Amino acid sequence: MQRKLNFFAGPSVMPLEVLHQLQDGILEYNGQGLSIIETSHRSSVFDGMYNECLALLRELLGISDEYSVYFLGGGATLQFAMVPMNFLRPDTAADYIKSGAWGNKAASDAEKIGRVRYYYDGTADRYTTLPRPEEVKAGEDSSYLYLCSNETIGGIQWKAFPDTGTVPLIADMSSDFFSRPVPVDQFSMIYAGVQKNLGPAGATVVIMKKSLLDKQNHNLPAYLDYSNHDKNDGLYNTPPVFSIWAVKLVLEWIKKNGGVEGMAKRAALKSGLLYNVIDSSSFFYSPVDPAYRSTMNVVFRLPSEELEAAFLEETKKAGMLGLKGHRSVGGLRASIYNALPVEDVEALANLMKEFERKNG
Ligand SMILES: *Cc1c(COP(=O)(O)O)cnc(C)c1O
Repeated sequence: MQRKLNFFAGPSVMPLEVLHQLQDGILEYNGQGLSIIETSHRSSVFDGMYNECLALLRELLGISDEYSVYFLGGGATLQFAMVPMNFLRPDTAADYIKSGAWGNKAASDAEKIGRVRYYYDGTADRYTTLPRPEEVKAGEDSSYLYLCSNETIGGIQWKAFPDTGTVPLIADMSSDFFSRPVPVDQFSMIYAGVQKNLGPAGATVVIMKKSLLDKQNHNLPAYLDYSNHDKNDGLYNTPPVFSIWAVKLVLEWIKKNGGVEGMAKRAALKSGLLYNVIDSSSFFYSPVDPAYRSTMNVVFRLPSEELEAAFLEETKKAGMLGLKGHRSVGGLRASIYNALPVEDVEALANLMKEFERKNG
C-alpha cells in the first residue's frame, strides 16, 4: 500500500506504528485468548489497560490528583450540552467567547439551557483573531468562562489562557490536545474529542477538577451528570473500549517522541514550514492574525477560487488528501496533527512553492 499524505481535519492521521500495533493486537490481547474489544469492561484485563492509559494521560499532561480523568462517548459535541446542563447555574450566566465554528456551537447549546453572555464576539473579523488573554475578565457572578483553545475551521489558537480568578475556566481542546504543554491547574475542566490528535473517533477525554462538582446542577439524567462518571472512575456505563486502547498506544508513541514538549516542537517545525511559504509568497496568503495562527490547522488562500481548485488538483495528484478548507469558509486548510510526518509537510511546502512558480 502507498500511504497517502493525510491532511484531514478529523478523523485524521494516526502514527503508522500504532496502526500496526492495533493490527497485531486486535486478535488477542496479552495472551488471554480474546481480543480487548471482546473483553468485559468489568474484567481485570480491561482494568489493566484502562488504568495504564489514564496514568499515561496524567503523567504526560501533568494532571494532579485534584482532577478526575475519564472518557465519554457522544463526541466533543455532547460536552457542548453537558457543560451548561451541569454548571450553568439558573441564577447567573456563563461567559462564552465567540471565536468561530466550535466556540459558537457550544454557546448556542448553552443558550438553550440558560443565560449566556458573550465576552467576545469575533463575527465582525470573520473569526480571524482572538482577544488578548490578559484582557479577558469573566463576570464576577459567572458560572464559568468557556473557550475553544483551537478553532479547527478558522485556524486560530490561543497561545496563553486567561486568568479567570475564582470563575471556573472550561475549554474545548479537541483539535490541539496533546500538541503542547497545558497549564491544567488554570482550568476547572478540559475536554477533547480524541479523533484529532489521540486516536480514532468514539471517545472524548474529560479532565474535571473535582471541586467543580460542588457547584453542579442536580436532577440530571444519569449519563449527562458528570458526578456519575466521577464516582465510577469513568466506568458508569460501557466505555468506548477500542478508542481507549488506541489512545493508550498513541500516548505511548507520544511519550517515546518527547511527550507534549516533543509534540510542541514538531508542531512548531511543521507549521513553520507552511507559514514560511505563505509569508514569503505574494500569491498564497493567510487570513489569520499572525499572533493567533494555529500550529495544527493552517488555513490559507490563493487569489481566486479557480486557482484554489487547480491547487487542490495538484495536491491530489501528489497523493495529498484533505486540503480543501471547511465548506463553511472555503479556501484551503492543512491539518497537521501530531502523527503527520514532517516529510509530508515538507512535501506540501515544496508543492506550494512549485505551484507559485508555475502560476504566480
Ligand atoms: C472536531 C471538533 C469538535 C467536534 O467533535 P465531535 O467529536 O465530532 O463531536 C468540537 N470541537 C472542536 C474544537 C473540534 O475540532
